[in-house]
Amino acid sequence: MFDRFFFHASIADGTGRPVYQANVGIRNGKIAYIGSEIPEDSAETVTLSPQEVLCPGFIDSHGHSECYLFHDPTVAPKLKQGVTTEVSGNCGIGFAPVNPKYLAELKDNFEGVAVGVPFPEQWSAMTTFRGFLREVEELHTEINTAFYAAHGALRIAVKGYDSSPLTAEEKERMHRLLREAMEAGAVGMTTGFVYAPGTYADMDEIVGLCQIVQEYGGVYATHMRDEGDRVLSSVEESIEVARRTGVRLLISHHKVTGKTNARFIPEIHRLVNAARAEGLSVFLDQYPYSAGETTLNTTIPYRYLDGGNQKLLERLENPTLREEITQAILHNDGTWQNPLDSTGFDGMTVLHTKCHPECHGKSLEQLAAEWAIPPVEVIFHLLKENDGQVNCLLHFMTESDVETIFQSPLVSVCTDSLLFGDGVPTHPRGYATYPRILGRFVREKQLVPFEEAIRKMTSMPADLFSMKYKGRIQEGMDADLVVVNRETVIDRGDYQDPKAENEGIQMVLVAGEVVLDRGTLTHRHAGSVLRNRDGGWS
Ligand SMILES: [Zn+2]
Ligand SMILES: [Zn+2]
Repeated sequence: MFDRFFFHASIADGTGRPVYQANVGIRNGKIAYIGSEIPEDSAETVTLSPQEVLCPGFIDSHGHSECYLFHDPTVAPKLKQGVTTEVSGNCGIGFAPVNPKYLAELKDNFEGVAVGVPFPEQWSAMTTFRGFLREVEELHTEINTAFYAAHGALRIAVKGYDSSPLTAEEKERMHRLLREAMEAGAVGMTTGFVYAPGTYADMDEIVGLCQIVQEYGGVYATHMRDEGDRVLSSVEESIEVARRTGVRLLISHHKVTGKTNARFIPEIHRLVNAARAEGLSVFLDQYPYSAGETTLNTTIPYRYLDGGNQKLLERLENPTLREEITQAILHNDGTWQNPLDSTGFDGMTVLHTKCHPECHGKSLEQLAAEWAIPPVEVIFHLLKENDGQVNCLLHFMTESDVETIFQSPLVSVCTDSLLFGDGVPTHPRGYATYPRILGRFVREKQLVPFEEAIRKMTSMPADLFSMKYKGRIQEGMDADLVVVNRETVIDRGDYQDPKAENEGIQMVLVAGEVVLDRGTLTHRHAGSVLRNRDGGWS
């Protein structure tokens, strides 16, 4: 007896194969039957309308949700987009392991990705990655979760925000921490080279760590050092890590910032194809927006971020240093990526500040005019008045360049979501990415066929992470499913109102349980923590 039976459903099975009709029987959380018969009775039969398509649940390879999960275990913003599995710990920013000595630094590091979301009480006790995964398990989340070990978190656990190279003994400790995380089930490791302390790592440090990731069949995902003027050398550097270690590489949130740099897109894809031809595993994922979001302190050269935000604010009180920092921002010496080089002061908009909501929605240039000070002083002023906690939107690409990248068969879909607390402005990508693609990129603009878009959301990320039972509608696979109305699906969230409800995500199932039923969240606690075991999954 099936638990649920989809009668004569239209199916986009995740492989890219054209939509076809079949019956689908679900039993014990698995897809037990696909075919034209009705082989046994079912506790419940579902008949979809002709516009509704049954797809594998979407797999978000870039979630940043570890803090948010403790606040909303339903993970409603993801679930309402059709996401059934989410991988967090991205961009070198992570929750564990905690070294209590450096908990303040870890909190500081995490502040920008969890604005307005309270840190969990038990955080300080998550001294091992295994302990962290256990805590997440206790939450009984509605969607499946998986986690990378984050290079920044490992480095903070060893030496806080100290920018000096690792000593042999520190390297050894970091390796031990990573090994513990991989043993516990981390899916790999991420780096964030534009954030402190990730930016202090050199090639040797990363290669040493990636050798361990490779031993466990994990993925190395990187927020590269430069996505703008020097993006090609960053791609080459990332591929070099894969070449030296054999690790599976994911270039995170693939983009090219700075409107004149779009010419690099074909060359990046050529480099990736050449690396694949060499036998390396190289992947790219992307969120479907021309603006990004990050913290304002990324406009400050790394060397002044040594010691964290508090140290930076102290440095800005010193007139000589302040002038030095001003010159370094205005005249980039080529040793770092300044997001302002891609956006200009008018393309960087304040999204959220700790203390000054009157600044929200205004560009740095606008604020400079209002306050009658140079735009670079606006940065210092905002950081000082908000304890360093300012998030910005970066308008650094054109829509058509985003669409060009999306069309490449090398590129899968992710959200890079920053899910913030109630009333805190944020980027819509965490709420609307999948409906946006299916409504705007597929139905309205026909950039790729519907089936290809579903492949980018399902089997592509499943294959990247070797999730053997996810990402496809086939017998024996996990019954993580989403029903999409392909005629109505659309995003309504934008930069002004990111949380506006999407349309056309009709039903979501996790492990065979209906967790979203035509607009209603059912709270079944159906999700699991997924652990990487020797390249397989449990
Ligand atoms: Zn990133
Ligand atoms: Zn990210």
